[in-house]
Amino acid sequence: MIFIKDILNVFFPDICACCNTHLTRNEETICLVCRHDLPLTNFTNEENNLVEKSFFGRIKIENATSLFYFLKKGKTQQLLHELKYKNQQQIGALMGNWLGSEIKESKRFKNLDYIIPVPLHPKKLKSRGYNQVTTFGKSLENILKIPFDEGFLKKISSTKHKPKNYV
Ligand SMILES: [Zn+2]
Repeated sequence: MIFIKDILNVFFPDICACCNTHLTRNEETICLVCRHDLPLTNFTNEENNLVEKSFFGRIKIENATSLFYFLKKGKTQQLLHELKYKNQQQIGALMGNWLGSEIKESKRFKNLDYIIPVPLHPKKLKSRGYNQVTTFGKSLENILKIPFDEGFLKKISSTKHKPKNYV
């Protein structure tokens, strides 16, 4: 089986979603160099982190986190672009597995009930054909063993995206 994969890899090489180098047999979705270089926030175990502060005075929350810092033209932007616009949904799984493992080990995120994504507007869902957070949410569901419910929220109007410096 590995032999067949190796032959296929000669003709259709898997490439890193960040830097486009060929992946080795032990790498998946992104190469080890990019995996090491991605700007992790380490917010999951940090009280009053930047994400939590962004909610202060606006909405009451228990805890919040994000996986990576977002740097324009950086590796995080490249990954999100591939996930959002090029249907590279394995990136959602990579990020969901990564964040899910962090959350699972954290004392700050216990007794979670549901994973609820912000939905896409129906028009955008129709034109894109998928919601980029679906594989992310399903991977979280798989690791954390709590339900991922895509039908809980409904988007009734289109909103402009406001850039943040974390994702
Ligand atoms: Zn790479």
